[in-house]
Amino acid sequence: MNVNLEKLLETMENEAKRRNAPVFTLKGFLNDSFQHLIFAVLSSRTKDEITVKAAKKLLSKAKTPEMLAKMSVREIEKLIEGVGFYRVKAKNLKKLAEKLVKEYNSKVPLEFDELIKLPGVGRKTANIVLSASKIPAIAVDTHVHRISNRLGLVKTEKPEETEEELKKLFPKKLWNRVNAAFVGFGQTVCKPVKPLCNECPIKWCPKIGL
Ligand code: SF4
Repeated sequence: MNVNLEKLLETMENEAKRRNAPVFTLKGFLNDSFQHLIFAVLSSRTKDEITVKAAKKLLSKAKTPEMLAKMSVREIEKLIEGVGFYRVKAKNLKKLAEKLVKEYNSKVPLEFDELIKLPGVGRKTANIVLSASKIPAIAVDTHVHRISNRLGLVKTEKPEETEEELKKLFPKKLWNRVNAAFVGFGQTVCKPVKPLCNECPIKWCPKIGL
């Protein structure tokens, strides 16, 4: 497939921004890798708007890993209530903070293999944190997986396979733009159900009119 990948990202970014995709409008308050990590852990199976509210509440009380480690699971639960699986996430966040304090000198380790050792942190979260810290990575969530397959960029069953294939396809200098571009485009145009194919600027999409 002969696709100008940079142009594709630009098209998705422009369309998503024009339509105020949450991924581009809601995360401006995140300032460092600790905050990005907390947000990413909270965000799984939760709408961005709800994650933002919970993250703001939690981060206002837990500005550092030490402060989060000192909170009780119940306190954390109260602050993040509303996000999916909040009880499990509260437990994981406390353990995660304790591990950061004890084993990483209260810093977020910026290596994939270390990040995935943290409680509640999987491939996607680890890649989001790396990417937010300007380290090349591609975080594949349901939007990235679905749209990559719809466009025929990959033919994969699992998000891990999609990540692997996208890393072969995109030059490294573009990796950190992939997640936000695809997620924003998936939130606004190429939605899971009833994508807006009539309004889609990607006229070569093999699934147009899906
Ligand atoms: S044409 Fe439809 S399926 Fe293809 S990228 Fe656009 S919205 Fe998605």
